[in-house]
Amino acid sequence: MSAAADPRPRVRLIGLPTDSHSSFLRGAAGGPAAIRAALASDHANRATENGLELGADILVEDMGDVPLREDDGDPARIGAALAEAAAAGAVPISLGGDHMVTFPIVAALARVHGPLNILHFDAHPDLYDDFGGDPLSHASPFARIMEGGHARRLVQFGIRTLNRHCRAQAARFGVEIVEMRDFAADRVPIPEAPLYISVDLDGFDPAFAPGVAHHEPGGPSVREMLQVLHRVNGPIVGADIVELHPGRDLNGITATLAAKLVKELASLTAKERP
Ligand code: MN
Ligand code: MN
Repeated sequence: MSAAADPRPRVRLIGLPTDSHSSFLRGAAGGPAAIRAALASDHANRATENGLELGADILVEDMGDVPLREDDGDPARIGAALAEAAAAGAVPISLGGDHMVTFPIVAALARVHGPLNILHFDAHPDLYDDFGGDPLSHASPFARIMEGGHARRLVQFGIRTLNRHCRAQAARFGVEIVEMRDFAADRVPIPEAPLYISVDLDGFDPAFAPGVAHHEPGGPSVREMLQVLHRVNGPIVGADIVELHPGRDLNGITATLAAKLVKELASLTAKERP
């Protein structure tokens, strides 16, 4: 059967090994390789929790890493890879890399789908006007996205680090934030299509995800976060999993979590789920 005639949704994994816009510790550039190794490991099968299986029900093509150079050309390189995926009819799941990557990803997908609706999981709102003089900082992608008109709605959960500046930025951009102090899985609004999901692994409590640069206690468990994901009525137009820092991980716990999230996010590309 040709790819065009195959009714299975097609997910394209895109590695984005870059961490030059990290504000505290570099290391997230090693994320894509660690996630792929965890995905390929024999410790687990290809099942997702909603009953779909990668391969049998959802095609996954791994495009390898985009050759990033950590220079001014990287946003365009990232945007080109995303545009290519969308043109091929595949749903891109990008593997970071630090959270800088989400700005060029969303900008590219918004050119295809119109302004997106974004569900963003993170300990941090990443709304700084700039951070340390770097407008592309991993602390700023959602400020760039909202200024650029690339999103209609931005819903954030997991958030537990709001300072005055970021509260003001959230009000300015109309960001809908479910702060961690008020968190319950059924309180998180799930935006309508075209839906994009961005997962910063530091959104989890560090007890569940130690392999990140910024440990921020008081986050949700893996189960609590999945309860939100499982409320999504897909299909989604794309997703990313960012900020895996393999050098801080313990026995690959966080890489394994990222690999599970690849599967659960891939299952959200299907229109119908069992
Ligand atoms: Mn974060
Ligand atoms: Mn982030």
